[in-house]
Amino acid sequence: MTPALTGGCQCGAIRYALATVPARTTLCHCRMCQKAVGQPFAAYASVPMADFAWTRGTPPAFRSSSAAERHFCPQCGTPLTFRYVARGEMEVAVGTLDHPEKITPVAHVGVESRLPWMASAVLDALPQSANQGGDPIVAKLVNYQHPDHDTGQGWAAPAA
Ligand SMILES: [Zn+2]
Ligand SMILES: [Zn+2]
Repeated sequence: MTPALTGGCQCGAIRYALATVPARTTLCHCRMCQKAVGQPFAAYASVPMADFAWTRGTPPAFRSSSAAERHFCPQCGTPLTFRYVARGEMEVAVGTLDHPEKITPVAHVGVESRLPWMASAVLDALPQSANQGGDPIVAKLVNYQHPDHDTGQGWAAPAA
């Protein structure tokens, strides 16, 4: 297939492809999603299972409830998916897409546990800067993250 979108984990051990652009992306504020991604909310983009394929590696999944499982990279820990096991859909974590800017969320869900500071008025009022505010450690770092595109099977992160 010619993928509509591709993505993968931070280290590059796991890669996936989507045959279609996800029809529905939600921002879930539920406690299970907060724990699963270690963040205030999780953004997941949904495609039919037939439109999803692993293209490098096959990650394990954590069964977070009787109804759902969540794939993650065993090497770098990136949370990759959410899936209701009885439903024919795969939801990918939006931040793992090579081009997350191509996705637009359509709804907030799980808002009963939405954090009070996850509000646009609060977030927009915070000071803003690029590249960690010019931190000298960030300026000199060597990036080990897999690039935002598919690479050959022999790809490896640059040496330290
Ligand atoms: Zn990884
Ligand atoms: Zn959730």
